[in-house]
Amino acid sequence: MSDATREIEALIELMARLPGLGPRSARRAVLHLIKRRGQVMAPLARAMAEVAATARECASCGNIGTADICDICRDERRATGELCVVEDVADLWAMERGQAFRGRYHVLGGTLSALDAIGPDELGIPRLLARIPEEGIGEVILALNATVEGQTTAHYIADALAGSAVRVTTLAQGVPIGGELDYLDDGTILAALRARKAL
Ligand code: ZN
Repeated sequence: MSDATREIEALIELMARLPGLGPRSARRAVLHLIKRRGQVMAPLARAMAEVAATARECASCGNIGTADICDICRDERRATGELCVVEDVADLWAMERGQAFRGRYHVLGGTLSALDAIGPDELGIPRLLARIPEEGIGEVILALNATVEGQTTAHYIADALAGSAVRVTTLAQGVPIGGELDYLDDGTILAALRARKAL
């Protein structure tokens, strides 16, 4: 095997570690990149080097950006008194795509798990509780995944805030927009029925 071939193989192996890519799609992606190295691969390599050098976690909310404090935390218009708690940066970005929430976020970076020894300190829950008086938060919206771990974590945070003046809410669960009842699982139908409202 020539050095060049070895380097290409090494690139394919690295690409195959990306979420959603296996060895087969990594090979196709690398081949595509090599064929379009001028238009795609070189700009991609530059963008990756740039982000690798500058990306960091926001010291306040845990969002990923290129500054110590992210754009959302710096934006005074987003000091609405509402704080949305999410598990992962991907969830924060999904909420932002929806353009419905105009407050600030807190990224936990996971969920409580006795099995993996992930406790409140590992998730930055003390930091979350400290932000509430610091930023005059009146409502904490728990936008955690509808998994056992997500709901355990939501209950832990709600318990920690019980007795304080802050309002604790969660996202509604139910029938997705465009969803057909026949395709939903029993748990989703049950949650939707419980959260029914007057028409
Ligand atoms: Zn931030």
